[in-house]
Amino acid sequence: MSEKSKLPFAVLEAIEALPNVVVDATSFAELTTLHVGGTPLATVRCASRDAVCAVVALLDDAKVPLLIVGGGSNLLINDGEVPLVAVVLECDEVDLHLGTGTLVAEAGAVWDEVVDMAVVSGLGGIECLSGIPGSAGATPVQNVGAYGAEIADVLTRVELLDRETHERAWVEASSLELAYRYSNLKFTSRAVVLAIELQLRTDGLSAPLRFGELARVLGIDAPRGGEEIRWPIAEVREAVLGLRRGKGMVYDEADNDTWSAGSFFTNPIVDAEVGEKVRGIVAGRLGAEEAAKMPCFPAGEGKVKLSAAWLIDRAGYAKGYPGHGRATLSTKHTLALTNRGEASADDLVALARDIRGGVASAFGVTLEPEPVWVGLSIDEPAQS
Ligand SMILES: Cc1cc2nc3c(=O)[nH]c(=O)nc-3n(C[C@H](O)[C@H](O)[C@H](O)COP(=O)(O)OP(=O)(O)OC[C@H]3O[C@@H](n4cnc5c(N)ncnc54)[C@H](O)[C@@H]3O)c2cc1C
Repeated sequence: MSEKSKLPFAVLEAIEALPNVVVDATSFAELTTLHVGGTPLATVRCASRDAVCAVVALLDDAKVPLLIVGGGSNLLINDGEVPLVAVVLECDEVDLHLGTGTLVAEAGAVWDEVVDMAVVSGLGGIECLSGIPGSAGATPVQNVGAYGAEIADVLTRVELLDRETHERAWVEASSLELAYRYSNLKFTSRAVVLAIELQLRTDGLSAPLRFGELARVLGIDAPRGGEEIRWPIAEVREAVLGLRRGKGMVYDEADNDTWSAGSFFTNPIVDAEVGEKVRGIVAGRLGAEEAAKMPCFPAGEGKVKLSAAWLIDRAGYAKGYPGHGRATLSTKHTLALTNRGEASADDLVALARDIRGGVASAFGVTLEPEPVWVGLSIDEPAQS
């Protein structure tokens, strides 16, 4: 057996015989933007869609657990030996059709390079999603979103490899049940996204600007109700990247504030009455003025969306909390849990539990983690 793998020999031999496949022993600390996590059974890099399909089929048939990895920017993985194979997607071709505005990207393409390519080519619709780390293939998995846009706005189809049948097919985006930071691919591992197809605008203008802070940076008066403002895409991309860098939300190897998984908790979506109850608690703790300012947005069907960052901050967790140690909140954003260099998975879990517990006891709201956890849980182990 090769030094670089703890896989059964026959499976390893079959994988290594495939074209466009490289097996090595890269750890999850190297594969993820949190830079946390131990060593998988093997790391298998696939440079073509066919290679992805063949590797996944071989592993599934041999009943060897696997994890699809793109840019590793939404993963929190346990330390030590991790009993699964990391299948890293490195197929990265991108096709743009300037006349029709159709863009097809293979799953392993770096998402921000796809956005840059679209913007440089005059295709609009994804400029607000500039600077999100990770791969094109992961964008539908949690319906990535930022600055008032989400991939669901432009995603038309995805090419999927079904993990049950190992058949591959292009399916409509509507079959993914895309919602806020959710699709039926997230947490299910039911299929691998091999490629995505987007329908972009060909007039060089952005998606409608829905985010006040972005509009202000662009020098536009805050969009009024119903008014649709579109803007030259290159300007929107630059403005978004500037805003994101200021918040540590563009991954930068040299900046520990970006050794994160981005927003660590999703914004809670609760019944409108619950939202008002939370506002009441805020009023009791922090005063009526603060309660009036509590972010609370309609989220359809009697629901409202609260701001996780605001609740964390008002529960007393300031940027940089706890100010020392190996895992802290980002010094630029309260919603990012960061590795200051040598954090362990347990350090991150302890910080996540601390913050979730603090927000729950302050406001009665239980925050849900956004990243995918492997070999770890935010729930405290049951006392025996
Ligand atoms: C600094 C920073 C800022 C961020 N900002 C944002 C933001 O603004 N908005 C936002 O939505 N997210 C944000 N994120 C989170 C993250 O970048 C996105 O979720 C991104 O889409 C993850 O892509 P990835 O390739 O790194 O996925 P990975 O972390 O490699 O994988 C995440 C999950 O998706 C699965 N997966 C990955 N690729 C595929 C595939 N092709 N097929 C099937 N399953 C797959 C994996 O198995 C895993 O379960 C941020 C993260 C960081 C570090």
